[in-house]
Amino acid sequence: MDAAISIKDLHVSYYGSEAVKGVSLSVDPGKLVGIIGPNGAGKSTFLKAMLNLIPRDKGEVKILGKSIKDVRKKIAYVPQRSDIDWDFPITVLDAVLIGTYPHLKVFHRPKKKEKQWAFACLERVGMQEFSKRQIGELSGGQQQRVFLARALAQQADLFFLDEPFVGVDVSSEETIVSILKELCTQGKTVVVVHHDLSKANDYFNELILLNKELIGFGTVEEVFKPEVIEKAYKGQFAFMKEIGVSI
Ligand code: ADP
Ligand code: MG
Repeated sequence: MDAAISIKDLHVSYYGSEAVKGVSLSVDPGKLVGIIGPNGAGKSTFLKAMLNLIPRDKGEVKILGKSIKDVRKKIAYVPQRSDIDWDFPITVLDAVLIGTYPHLKVFHRPKKKEKQWAFACLERVGMQEFSKRQIGELSGGQQQRVFLARALAQQADLFFLDEPFVGVDVSSEETIVSILKELCTQGKTVVVVHHDLSKANDYFNELILLNKELIGFGTVEEVFKPEVIEKAYKGQFAFMKEIGVSI
């Protein structure tokens, strides 16, 4: 069986300054993986470079044993909130309908079948009553649910979400987590950038701990240890207290 994600020696830099240095790892299908690390650690950069959304300096990435361009339709990506233009004039239902586009034939517009499917995805995230609203009129949690619905509409095999819980209410966070866990039980692979470590234990099977370099990778039990975490968060004592590590 091919790995869901296989990365060899990934390097990314901005204007000559390295943001991701030599990351290699492999993730099996059906896993819920958290990417953790301090602010500016290169988490978003790593995710974008993995998905070919920004250029890499070096490195090989295979998704389901293939190069990204051959499996693009199987990948759903929900960007970080700050990367999304929330003023863009689009209704909730239309935003979700975009998720069905990869399955449409060339020059075909979404019809009744696609609209029903998009609506079903909105129901799954509890946002069906908001279908006619503009996305800019929603709360953070509602916006994140809509983006998850769009990813669901795509019927992808791999889901990549960048900080989906930032600015999100508790109930939306619970809804999103339970859907992500359910996707994994269906054999889908889910990768989530998450900077708040307090829930990492409950949410993920595996953790990728980054600070430019790969500091730790493995099961939550293997990575979520003070001596490993400390390597990524050097000197950030307040943070260590926050996660209950005695110092
Ligand atoms: P994280 O998501 O872990 O907070 P990022 O991947 O956003 O980290 O950023 C990693 C580093 O790269 C930071 O130092 C950031 O300032 C820099 N960086 C990110 N995006 C750009 C960009 N478009 N141009 C230049 N530098 C960038
Ligand atoms: Mg980021």
